[in-house]
Amino acid sequence: MSELARNLEQIEAAITAACQRAGRKREEIELMAVSKTYGAERLAEAARLGLNLFGENRVQEWQGKRDGFLDLTAELATRPRVHLIGHLQSNKSARAVEIFDGVDSVDSLRLAERLNDAAAKLGKQLPVLIEVKLSTEETKAGLDPESNDARELLERLPELASLKPEGLMTIAPFDVPKAETRACFQSLRKLRDEWSARHTRLGWEVLSMGMSGDFELAIEEGATRIRIGTALFGKRPPMAEQLKQFPEEAE
Ligand SMILES: *Cc1c(COP(=O)(O)O)cnc(C)c1O
Repeated sequence: MSELARNLEQIEAAITAACQRAGRKREEIELMAVSKTYGAERLAEAARLGLNLFGENRVQEWQGKRDGFLDLTAELATRPRVHLIGHLQSNKSARAVEIFDGVDSVDSLRLAERLNDAAAKLGKQLPVLIEVKLSTEETKAGLDPESNDARELLERLPELASLKPEGLMTIAPFDVPKAETRACFQSLRKLRDEWSARHTRLGWEVLSMGMSGDFELAIEEGATRIRIGTALFGKRPPMAEQLKQFPEEAE
């Protein structure tokens, strides 16, 4: 058995256990393989093990490995989906819409408008998540949910017909006590409940929260999509660790 297969087995066991604790079904949770920094060959290996949703955090990087990945997975019955999960500069929206199946890191109205225009041009419906910042850490990406920017985005989104809003994404603070991580996940869920009651024209089914270190807590608190990198693929190179802390594009 490959290292990847073994890691996946362990993650699946942990997901199942967390589901049992929370009284949830395994099918309620999508496992996103966060494949930034790993080569196309590793991604294809993961795809052959049945992983069908990948997360990448840089346009440029995915651009570089996409052809290889598509070649290596051409024989699979269903093509895995790949979403952007890192900060996107609006001047790269057109390229992002071309090469990704979804953008889980929408953090401004301007970006949403750009993505909508690009998707309309390509005749594409682009699934999107709003990324919110629930931690006070300076380094965290995402929209402040109490801000005017957030209010404007929520009001305008229903008119952006080429976007398909599906819910919310957040990154919990690193290296904090468990209780704080859990509180962050609870806040995201509460926010979803509030916003979904007020903005009924948008979709709210996806709660993307939880990474290698905290996905079990996230499942207990209602995550429907967990984003797993290192627990699946192994440690990223040191430079990549910085990208994890600062999920903005480094180019
Ligand atoms: C890198 C990254 C992850 C995965 O982190 P791991 O700790 O390796 O599981 C999840 N979400 C985002 C937004 C990331 O940038």
